[in-house]
Amino acid sequence: MARYTGPLCRLCRAEQKKLFLKGDRCKTDKCPINKKRAMPGKDPKARTGKRSDYGTQLREKQKLKRTYGMLEKQFRIFFDRAIRMPGVTGDNLVGLLERRLDNVVFRMHFAVNRNQARQVVQHGHVLVNGKPVNIASYIVKAGDTVEIKEASKKLNVIKDALKEVSKSGVASWITLDADALKGTFVSVPRRADVTDLADIKEQLVVELYSK
Ligand code: SF4
Repeated sequence: MARYTGPLCRLCRAEQKKLFLKGDRCKTDKCPINKKRAMPGKDPKARTGKRSDYGTQLREKQKLKRTYGMLEKQFRIFFDRAIRMPGVTGDNLVGLLERRLDNVVFRMHFAVNRNQARQVVQHGHVLVNGKPVNIASYIVKAGDTVEIKEASKKLNVIKDALKEVSKSGVASWITLDADALKGTFVSVPRRADVTDLADIKEQLVVELYSK
């Protein structure tokens, strides 16, 4: 799958918001947003005026899409799937994004960010319900187990990422056995449970795509 390969901090600077695309660095003073670095581009001041409704909706979509490390085509596929599901489309969209296998791997702290989680999945280190799955956009179901395969458990990149468990724990919809490098995606989170996305207004994404 194609993916963005440019500088990640630039994406946060474009939104003037921390999207937490890196890992530990995002929580330090080295983060360009903490340093109040300007928006990228030749004349960032030209883009700080009042935004149109369309501009506001577009920025909200970019924030959500970039948080999950997706490109437009695949993000749109997720949206189209969300709109066909019963319930509130915005909630469905966030629920679907949370069910991506790379995101679940990130939430279980087998990777420091979603980008790295995608690589952990694509390089074949992950089992879902005991079977290898190397598709980052694979949709995990409630009750599925996700684990690091035996031969990959010694990888430093995974062991280092797991140190985050002791600092921040795991999301409420996930259980994790950190010693076994195995977790369960207990249930699809309700929108209100995804607190690190609390300030993203997915309803604006729905309005944008519904034009
Ligand atoms: Fe974004 Fe993290 Fe870079 Fe800060 S350090 S700008 S949060 S990717």
